Amino acid sequence: MNILILGGTAEARALAAALAQRTVYAVTLSLAGRTAAPAPHSVPVRSGGFGGAEGLARYLRAECIAALIDATHPYAAAISANAAQAARETGVPLLALLRPPWPKLPGDAWLEVETVSDAVRAIGEIPRRVFLALGRKELQSFEHAPHHSYLIRSVDPVDPPLAVPQASYIAARGPFSAAEDRALLEHYRIEIAVAKNSGGDATYGKIAAARVLGLPVIMLQRPALPPMESAATVDEVLAWLDHALTLSTARGV
Ligand code: NAP
Repeated sequence: MNILILGGTAEARALAAALAQRTVYAVTLSLAGRTAAPAPHSVPVRSGGFGGAEGLARYLRAECIAALIDATHPYAAAISANAAQAARETGVPLLALLRPPWPKLPGDAWLEVETVSDAVRAIGEIPRRVFLALGRKELQSFEHAPHHSYLIRSVDPVDPPLAVPQASYIAARGPFSAAEDRALLEHYRIEIAVAKNSGGDATYGKIAAARVLGLPVIMLQRPALPPMESAATVDEVLAWLDHALTLSTARGV
């Protein structure tokens, strides 16, 4: 049974590792191809866009994919919309592996905003020391607020750097612990952070650290995703796939 995982997350990697143990599944994991040196995976990886929903539908047909798992990041809305459309067109069963968002806990000083531009405005007119835990796509908007001093952490170096006079860069791949992130925020005397509500453990350190230090966090709201069946854990996906396998075996497919 050929499975395609749309990846780019720690959960996708964990799912691939679990499926690699099961010989009934032939698994391919797809990456967008944005990261120069992606983390290693336990299954074959393909890289690069499919060419929209139509391209993904063509791929599903050409590779005789029996089940599609969307394990992309909750803020990767375009590929999830493509997955929903391609699954509809081809009839390939689709399941999302979606991390629940972090809940706001007592002591969290979150300002929730809809867009990156809202986040830029929310930092304000007074110059502040800002920690940006965002991807390359979002960073450019902060050039509209060059009066702040930025600390930017990303997997790959930000190239070209932001056109702002004061920015420090850290290239690092999570997981990041709360203790490490507290030390980082203190070292750079950060006054405010901007983050996505990614969910999961790997990047929660900064949120826990900000709470302990009493720092505000401007939290970008999750984008709207197309309605689709979803699972919150790798085990739930495995159970769903085993059920799909039983059904297709019973049909003699
Ligand atoms: P996006 O805006 O939803 O997707 C833009 C385009 O990139 C898609 O239309 C698709 O191109 C291609 N693409 C995205 N994910 C792909 C995948 N897994 N395999 C093949 N093509 C893919 O995505 P994004 O927000 O730029 O994220 C790109 C990747 O980084 C995703 O794999 C995501 O899981 C990962 N990631 C994203 C974030 C985030 O905050 N957005 C954080 C961590 C990791 P075509 O239309 O040509 O097929």
